Amino acid sequence: MTSPKPHFFDQTPDSLTDLLAGWGMPRFRAQQALDWVYRKGVADPQAMTNLSQRNRDTLSQRMTFLQGRVIRQQTATDATQKLLIDWSLPPETPAQNGRNLNTLTVLGDNQGSSKTQTECVLIPSTSRDSGKARRTACVSSQVGCPVGCKFCASGLGGLDANLTAGQIVQQAWQLSRLGVTSGGGPLTNVVFMGMGEPLVNLKAVLPALHTLAADWGMNLSARRITVSTVGVPAGIRRLAALDLPVTLAISLHAPNDALRKQIIPWAEGVTIDQLVEAGQHYFRTTKREITLEYILLGGLNDQPQHAHELATVSKRLRSNINLIRYNEVAGLPFTRPDADDVHRFQRILTDTGRTTHIRASRGRDIAAACGQLRHENQTTTAAV
Ligand code: SF4
Repeated sequence: MTSPKPHFFDQTPDSLTDLLAGWGMPRFRAQQALDWVYRKGVADPQAMTNLSQRNRDTLSQRMTFLQGRVIRQQTATDATQKLLIDWSLPPETPAQNGRNLNTLTVLGDNQGSSKTQTECVLIPSTSRDSGKARRTACVSSQVGCPVGCKFCASGLGGLDANLTAGQIVQQAWQLSRLGVTSGGGPLTNVVFMGMGEPLVNLKAVLPALHTLAADWGMNLSARRITVSTVGVPAGIRRLAALDLPVTLAISLHAPNDALRKQIIPWAEGVTIDQLVEAGQHYFRTTKREITLEYILLGGLNDQPQHAHELATVSKRLRSNINLIRYNEVAGLPFTRPDADDVHRFQRILTDTGRTTHIRASRGRDIAAACGQLRHENQTTTAAV
C-alpha cells in the first residue's frame, strides 16, 4: 500500500538532507524543497523553480510526493469537505498534483478497495473562545480500526493496515491546500478523530505529530492538535512523555464499565478507573486538561442517570466534556438522540459544574461520521 520510493511527508530536515546528498544534490536543496511543500503548497518537483532542472528530475524520479489518490471528494452544505483516499492507487500525475484540488469531484466510484481507503475531513468553523475562523483537519491513523465500536462504520470490517507517518501528514497537507484553494486559508487545527485508534499506531503517529507541529513542517501549535483515543493507558503515558503538549481526548461514550463494554469491545480489557488514572497522569505531566468525548446514542446512554454518572467520572479528572449527537449509519441499530434528551443531559452536567459543550454536527448531508463515506463507497461497490 506504500510506494517503494521514499515519501516526502515521512522526512525530517535531517533525513531529507541525507537522502538528497546521497542522490548527488547540494545539502541546501532539502530546505528549499521543504519550503516549496510546506510554505508554498507545491508538491510537484517540476514546479520548484529555484532547483536546477537536473535536481527537479532527480526528485521526480526518486521520491514520491503525494501517495495514493483522492477517489471521492464531497462538499456539504455547511462547507465541510471530505476526501476518500485510496492508498493503493498510483499518485496522480504531476500535472494533476498541481491543479486546484477543489476541482476534483468523483474520480470513480469503484476504484480500489475499501481495504486500502481512508477518509479525512476539512471542517471550517468559528472558535467558541476567540470568534476567529478555524479550519480543522480530521485525519485517519489507520485503514479500518481494530477497536470495533458497535456504533461506528470504521470498525465494521476491523483493521486493514496502519498508515505511515507520511500518509498521516499528507492528509493534513492536502486538507490545508483544500482550505486555501476554497478561499478560507490554511489549517488551524488537526484532530486525530478519523479512522483508527491512534495510540496503537504510535510508530507513525508520534513522528507525524512532530511534523505537524514543526516550524519547518505544518507549523501548527501543539495545543491545536488533538489526539483522540478510545483508551489505551500505556499509549496515553507514551504521549505524555512526548515533548509536545497536544490535547488528549478520551472517548468515554458510557459512564460505567458495564454499559461501556456493550458498545466498545476494548472496554473488556480497560476499566474507566484505569482510564481516569492515565488521564490524571497526562494532566500532571503536560498540564493539559483532558477532553472527555461522549457520543449520545438515542435511549441507550443519554438518560439522566447516565449524565449524573458521567459528572462523577469527570470530577475525578481535570476535564471538560464534549457531547456528540450520533449520526446514524446505515445497517447499524443505533439512533440519533432526541434534542430534548441532549439538552437535559447537558443541563445536568453543567448544573454539577462540569464544562460541557455539544459538538455541532458537521457535514450531515455527506455522511460525515467516521468511516461512513468509505462504508458507503463499499456498499455502492458491492451493489453493482
Ligand atoms: Fe475505531 Fe473510533 Fe470507530 Fe471506535 S469510534 S471503531 S475507536 S474509529
